[in-house]
Amino acid sequence: MSEIKITAYKCKKCGHIHYPQHERCLKCKGREFEEFEPEGNAKLLAYTQMFNLPWGFDERFLIIGIAQFENGVKALGQIKAESLGGIKSGMTLKPSWEPVRYVYGEPVYGLKFEPL
Ligand SMILES: [Zn+2]
Repeated sequence: MSEIKITAYKCKKCGHIHYPQHERCLKCKGREFEEFEPEGNAKLLAYTQMFNLPWGFDERFLIIGIAQFENGVKALGQIKAESLGGIKSGMTLKPSWEPVRYVYGEPVYGLKFEPL
């Protein structure tokens, strides 16, 4: 499994976590951030089914979700499931960094979540 290539930013003043990066802290307007990576498993916060996928996807639809890692980073990723059947908010997901689609034959990597 390759490492999750996400960098999150923690405000040095108030500790608020940002991903993706913002120029100024959304909470206190601070400008200094400490970089860190998501760790551990993730808890599903919200999810949806996405149809009409951009070019390069083989699937008919995707299930995507926002999940929160154990160290607080929230990120959007593709959930590895065939249907919404077994998916529910609050469930634990195992994150991985994998090809999510192919553009001109080259894999584009992204975040995926596997329900545990
Ligand atoms: Zn702040």
